[in-house]
Amino acid sequence: MKKGPKAARCKGCDALIFWAKTPAGKNMPFNVSPAARAEWIAYWNAKAGVVSCFRDVRGSAGYNQAMVNRAYNRYQPHWETCPRPPSKR
Ligand SMILES: [Zn+2]
Repeated sequence: MKKGPKAARCKGCDALIFWAKTPAGKNMPFNVSPAARAEWIAYWNAKAGVVSCFRDVRGSAGYNQAMVNRAYNRYQPHWETCPRPPSKR
């Protein structure tokens, strides 16, 4: 990430995460380290002034073929790897 995202911490496990807006306008937590095989692509959306993300699945909301082709960084949703999800406490 070149710009924008503020680092945050998971309330469950205290790992570093960042938040990105999904095409549906929801905030989603991601691990800060890119993951080559992750399904989500996150990018700095200068127009909106936020980090936006979308799922690299053809036909999904917000899917952007050009960005997939340009190999934008992929990230894994934090809940997939969180050892202590806050919601399960
Ligand atoms: Zn966590």
